[in-house]
Amino acid sequence: MSTGYKSFHESSIKDPKGFWAEQAKLVDWHKPFDQVFDYSNPPFAKWFIGGQTNLCHNAVDRHLKDRAQQIALVAVSTETEQERTYTFEELHAEVNRMAAILQAHGVVKGDRVLIYMPMIAQACFAMLACARIGAIHSVVFGGFASHSLASRIDDAKPKMIITAEAGMRGGKAVPYKPLLDEAITLASYKPEKVLIVNRGLSDYSTVANRDIDYASEREKHLNSKVPVEWVDATHPSYILYTSGTTGKPKGVQRDTGGYAVALASSMRLIFGGNPGETMFTTSDIGWVVGHSYIIYGPLINGMATIMYEGTPLRPDAGIWWSLVEKYKVSVMFSAPTAVRVLKKQDPAFLSKHNLSTLRTLFLAGEPLDEPTASWIHDALKKPVVDNYWQTETGWPILAIQRGVEVMPHKFGSPGVPVYGYNMKLLDEATGAELGPDKKGVVAIEGPLPPGCMQTVWGDDQRFTKTYWETVPGKQVYSTFDWAIKDKDGYFFILGRTDDVINVAGHRLGTREIEESISSHANVAEVAVVGVEDQLKGQVAIAFVIAKDPTKLANMEAEVMKTVDSQLGAVARPARVYLVSALPKTRSGKIVRRALQAVAEGRDPGDISTMEDQSVLAQIKQVIGK
Ligand code: AMP
Repeated sequence: MSTGYKSFHESSIKDPKGFWAEQAKLVDWHKPFDQVFDYSNPPFAKWFIGGQTNLCHNAVDRHLKDRAQQIALVAVSTETEQERTYTFEELHAEVNRMAAILQAHGVVKGDRVLIYMPMIAQACFAMLACARIGAIHSVVFGGFASHSLASRIDDAKPKMIITAEAGMRGGKAVPYKPLLDEAITLASYKPEKVLIVNRGLSDYSTVANRDIDYASEREKHLNSKVPVEWVDATHPSYILYTSGTTGKPKGVQRDTGGYAVALASSMRLIFGGNPGETMFTTSDIGWVVGHSYIIYGPLINGMATIMYEGTPLRPDAGIWWSLVEKYKVSVMFSAPTAVRVLKKQDPAFLSKHNLSTLRTLFLAGEPLDEPTASWIHDALKKPVVDNYWQTETGWPILAIQRGVEVMPHKFGSPGVPVYGYNMKLLDEATGAELGPDKKGVVAIEGPLPPGCMQTVWGDDQRFTKTYWETVPGKQVYSTFDWAIKDKDGYFFILGRTDDVINVAGHRLGTREIEESISSHANVAEVAVVGVEDQLKGQVAIAFVIAKDPTKLANMEAEVMKTVDSQLGAVARPARVYLVSALPKTRSGKIVRRALQAVAEGRDPGDISTMEDQSVLAQIKQVIGK
């Protein structure tokens, strides 16, 4: 490993105080911090204690001095054929209006606001308005349906929910408001107000004294100015739910000061974006990439950001590249699945655009396979930078940090530990640190660097127990990913150690899908596993035992419909197999590993612990392998 990166990383681990105090200069502080970090109560790390700041101020207000007329936000919808830009001054005005609406309806610092919205500019205003007044937002991905929403409402207890009546995908309106109404009926907790952005895409009904219309509220607050609420660096900025091993999603709680610093520094040192340039991140605000690198990261860095509603293929497969050309994008961030989708199209869609402003393409969220990486690299002739991280960390854990040192890339590896992360590759059984080329669990020694999750919302014990107590004999953070590390310190990610699967870069818990399927009246037992898929990386496959085998007509479609209506199409299994038995150990545990192997056409390996070994043969027959 060469010295530039090596000494930089070492200094971040050996002298975190000095290192992060330096990085903290990248953001504005209303009140300077007295202490860089406090790790007196592990695993809970506090960053920039005593300091006061505000994410909205750093993303918007502080740029008014130098770049008021510069574009801050480009909202493009190829679904509604609308395209609008907002300068920093205009964004500031819209965020003030939204903040005034929140305040007028009683939202104050510390209140939660749930945001269930498509990729429209108002979603950005809503997030920034919450940050402005110290309210804690919780964005729920629009692809989630009523049950997923209800469990998040019950956990976050939002005073207000902000939504739109509909999104649009592939030219069809996708209703949001009716799903939200259903979720509120299902939830035990009831929000006081629901603010609706009416896009005129679909009809919806309203609830008196609860539902309010954004356009008319905005009119009332056109000239409102809402002062920034200075909050402690440790004040929670948002909750973002993510799936894990149990059916109940975890609320990842993020702070304010540490997050601002981590993002500001990553924008320079990892993503190489300069103020005044444009970043285009093709994710959704419902995911962590959307929080960090559609909204907060680029704006904090004084860049314009593009919010895109639509598919990468409409009106044609050149749409993203035409936006790169039009808005002079210098930094682009996408996911391997999106590239695999584009790879099937005529390369002329890419080559006909002038991409001279584009410096680097970043890809994250799922393993980057060599054919995909090579194809996009050859087509763009620009560096393609894989980066590995999680909802929990909020910013990259592994990457080639080109702003520190342009180290060589190795296919199949997202790179080396990012500064601030004290990474260990540990033996799962003993907790011992592993040498080169040995498979182990990717772990991070505390304190987690700034920007990472503070705790599980409302459940400190779950934070400790889930993440910090899985490696024997050591209190370290587990990523739940397998990897090997080569002699040069590059990590190669090999997949999850738990029941989480990764579909097109979206994390899904198989247990959550199983719970949903179990609610179908004719389901006796179910097992869901993730299997390899050429396009999406992985897809979910369900194996179902029916209670009444005489009533199987339409059963597969019904099971899929159950998941669609409860969790959302994003969690729908690609295939449902009706079977008469599931492979189990003698103690009755379903052997998912064997199911997965069989579904992928692999040898299931050692099945000696299985109670009835003929079950797998039956399953092979059902799936035709
Ligand atoms: P999420 O929290 O939904 O972003 O999912 C995080 C998980 O996605 C990680 O724990 C990994 O399993 C996987 N992941 C994210 N980025 C990468 C990457 N660059 N390479 C391989 N796996 C990745």
